[in-house]
Amino acid sequence: AEEALRQAEKLAAMGRMAGIIAHEINNPLEAITNAFYLLRNHPSLDDQAKYYADMAEQELQRASHITRQTLSFYRESKQPVPVSLPEVIESVLELQQRGLQSSGIDLQKQYRSGGVIYAHPVELRQVFLNLIGNAVQAMPGGGTLRIRISEATDGLTGRRGIFLSVIDTGVGIDPENAEKLFQPFFSTKSTKGTGLGLWISKGIVQKYEGRIAFRSQYYKGRQATCFRVFLPAETTHSSAKSGGKPAADSVAV
Ligand code: ADP
Repeated sequence: AEEALRQAEKLAAMGRMAGIIAHEINNPLEAITNAFYLLRNHPSLDDQAKYYADMAEQELQRASHITRQTLSFYRESKQPVPVSLPEVIESVLELQQRGLQSSGIDLQKQYRSGGVIYAHPVELRQVFLNLIGNAVQAMPGGGTLRIRISEATDGLTGRRGIFLSVIDTGVGIDPENAEKLFQPFFSTKSTKGTGLGLWISKGIVQKYEGRIAFRSQYYKGRQATCFRVFLPAETTHSSAKSGGKPAADSVAV
């Protein structure tokens, strides 16, 4: 079951990448299709050139068809549903159980909110799988993993929502790398890392009009690294698609 879940996560991430790539490729393809139309009808084109242009255009249409299919598949992927963040976290922790145990990591949970928001569960799971996975990897020799969920008003935007913190007592973050952390392919984990986790996570959080930030500092004689995610209770994204308000206390965990 653990492997199946891991596989599902991988597929979801790959699907998202495929969607991004299809979108990026579709725009220039659209432009080339228009240019080909003009070229094919250009008076200076002789029959042989026309034949080549037709051939190229057919292949172009095939490529456009593939990207359009890929895009519509990922655009139509289901409506957002009420997602309980504690439930998402629990399912991620289950996946990480082996890592937690083998490193001897002490787990402390503080769920002060039912933490329900409208979202695609797979996307949120992806975010917290990345954050918790990173925290576990930062503590190969053991430590404490703290997870906090609370409901509050975001000081920066004045919006009501859910705060979720993943705090570890691991290796910490070199201030020199702080700027690069959310960039794609930045990783300090030579062979084990892809450097895509935080980049993808930030993309997902921003899609829900949220914020993600981190802080790494010395605290009570130990390095502590905290990744904090804010997700607004109501987003234009969710209300536009589902027309409903998330009920913060509808799901108790
Ligand atoms: P990856 O984990 O594949 O390297 P990420 O995008 O998830 O990619 O993370 C990028 C980098 O950020 C990591 O290689 C690591 O240097 C740093 N990082 C992320 N989370 C933590 C953490 N909890 N503690 C220390 N460093 C971290």
